[in-house]
Amino acid sequence: MRVLVVEDDPGIAAGLLAMLKAAGYAADVSASLASASSAIAVEVFDLVLLDRGLPDGDGLQWLRQLRERGLKLPVLILTARDALPDRVAGLDEGADDYLVKPFEPEELLARMRLALRRSEGRASPLLRHGDLEIDPAAHTVTRAGQPVNLRVKEFALLLALLRSGGQVLSRQRLEETLYGFDEALDSNALEVHIHHLRRKLGDDFVKTVRGVGYFVPRPGDTPSSKPGRG
Ligand code: CA
Repeated sequence: MRVLVVEDDPGIAAGLLAMLKAAGYAADVSASLASASSAIAVEVFDLVLLDRGLPDGDGLQWLRQLRERGLKLPVLILTARDALPDRVAGLDEGADDYLVKPFEPEELLARMRLALRRSEGRASPLLRHGDLEIDPAAHTVTRAGQPVNLRVKEFALLLALLRSGGQVLSRQRLEETLYGFDEALDSNALEVHIHHLRRKLGDDFVKTVRGVGYFVPRPGDTPSSKPGRG
């Protein structure tokens, strides 16, 4: 999961980045609306955390333009403006949620999970795939009831693969999901994580499409596993 933080206060931005990385998200910061526009034009993000008072304008007006252009990305507004008309306007202009600063990190993370769940059309907080059960909030995975221990990046990779619903994800897309602009990335880092996932979940769990990318077949698509609803 990759998050764009649109925030011009360096202290707040640094705090959000640290919190997001600790929770297993890849995250990038844009300190202006112009920079945020360029970022979403060239990279794929799963969610945006948006400040309102930015040097080149109001985040809310930027959001309205994005929604008019059909952008469906979940957007949470984080702002010090707590007046009721501001909160109502935020939601009416296309924000998925609205949090007033200061807020507790746990609440922000919970609201992010809710927004992501809604954007995937999922009512249950748990993701199920065959006999795997993934809890994005607790960062836990069980297989047939037995815990599977995954590292932070392996967990993020598993979530990205399962959320694509059996579609092939390119290597670049997966790297963008796992790493922010400023994170050093070994050329074979993704392969290493894929290797670990296969070791922990089975060699056949992640399929390679040579020269294209990777995917996890939906449970009903493979004869070796039970049919199920994803
Ligand atoms: Ca600001």
